[in-house]
Amino acid sequence: MKRIILSVLASLMLIVLSSCETHIGDNVIKTPWWVVLVILGVYLVLHITVKAILMSKKYFVCKDGSHRFKPKWYSCLLGQFLFETIDDKTYYTLKCPECGKRVQAYKDENQEN
Ligand SMILES: [Zn+2]
Repeated sequence: MKRIILSVLASLMLIVLSSCETHIGDNVIKTPWWVVLVILGVYLVLHITVKAILMSKKYFVCKDGSHRFKPKWYSCLLGQFLFETIDDKTYYTLKCPECGKRVQAYKDENQEN
């Protein structure tokens, strides 16, 4: 989450520095601030969605090791931000289809079927 906030701040600063004016030849196109915000918002949503889809293609194991599952992509939308690291292992909060609820799960080292 921190990284995303940082990259948003960096992009915002870049936009402020470029002062929202685009020069094409002799024409100056002024970009309203809300267009910048919309573009930024769309970018963020895409970024989070792509990350979630990539995550849903991996195998995860319930914390107690009893279930191995591929999480649903929409479970990863939020799940990618809900994690904690214990003993160098990252536990994501994802919905396990076997448990039927959100559990802490870690990425399986063996990603083969
Ligand atoms: Zn489970």
